[in-house]
Amino acid sequence: MTETNYQILLKSRPVGWVSEENFEYAAGEMPAPGPGEILVRNKFMSLDPYMRGRMNEGKSYVPPFAVGEVLEAGVVGEVIVSNNDDYAVGDHVTGRLGWENYSKSDGQGLMKVDPDLAPLSWYLGILGMPGMTAYVGLMSIGQPKEGETLFVSAASGAVGSVVGQLGKIMGLRVVGCAGEDSKVAWLTDELGFDAAFNYKTCGPVYKKLRELCPEGIDINFENVGGEILEAALWQMNDFGRIIMCGLISAYNDKEPAPGPRGMALIVQRRLKMQGFIVFDHQDLCREYMAKAAGWVKEGKLKYRETITDGLENAPRAFIGLLKGENFGKQIVKLD
Ligand code: NDP
Repeated sequence: MTETNYQILLKSRPVGWVSEENFEYAAGEMPAPGPGEILVRNKFMSLDPYMRGRMNEGKSYVPPFAVGEVLEAGVVGEVIVSNNDDYAVGDHVTGRLGWENYSKSDGQGLMKVDPDLAPLSWYLGILGMPGMTAYVGLMSIGQPKEGETLFVSAASGAVGSVVGQLGKIMGLRVVGCAGEDSKVAWLTDELGFDAAFNYKTCGPVYKKLRELCPEGIDINFENVGGEILEAALWQMNDFGRIIMCGLISAYNDKEPAPGPRGMALIVQRRLKMQGFIVFDHQDLCREYMAKAAGWVKEGKLKYRETITDGLENAPRAFIGLLKGENFGKQIVKLD
């Protein structure tokens, strides 16, 4: 356990692919909590694809990271000083704090978590924002009906792996794709997907989808974009739903790529294609959290994470996440 508050700052904005030079690892000051504030010793930190967007300048649903400032992340930690009646020393909390060993907070936006219910890092994955994202997208836009076919891309990742398993709980036929054979095997052998394929080695994705979804796709949970989205679009059934969760294949593009070919299909087949941001759906997030712990306990939701040791290795792990080096949820262990 470090006594120094090491931090990672955004040194410069990436152009195209992010590199380790865009980050600075430095020993910062130990935060001094004032009246109403708490000091949190951060134990686990989440790395998420959306962070790549926040490294760019420009308007989005969250403000960009500032150059020269500590980066922000989902964190789980322990309260070690409290000047706030809502938190006691020893409480474990999760929320948006810094890429750093110690953070101070006024407690707003933090949530207490139970370390006896699940390992702490799980509150950043299956019992946290990625799990909620899977549920929110599937329920609010996907509107699943038993027997329908669901296709999910980046299916072995933090969000995709939950999407597929929720699909099975809801009685759907579930097909997924991932970028390594070991990930594909995990989807079918452990998570109960009906079929899965390696999008890097399968040949044309639309042909593979035609083969594995012979009755077409009713719900496409889109995490990737590009060729995979285009291939799914052509396999959609009438009145299908395309859940636009993320487009990770484009996050390092210098120029926005043209959209998928076949947009006329949206009209012809009366498709619904809708984006969402998980935090706009607090009711569904709460509903998921109420159900997820039970599903995990019953073995209906399985979980896998890649844990990188040490804050100093976070930039490397983040770049790896964007290249598919993580298997399941990417976490950084901080102490
Ligand atoms: P993951 O844990 O799935 O990690 C990212 C994965 O994406 C990689 O492991 C890699 O897996 C895959 N990937 C990377 N580049 C490509 C590519 N060019 N083509 C295909 N696959 C690629 O991340 P999350 O589960 O946390 O996030 C999944 C998606 O959900 C992202 O697009 C993210 O931005 C989005 N998201 C959206 C939210 C919302 O509120 N709308 C909230 C949270 C996440 P592989 O080996 O399979 O290539």
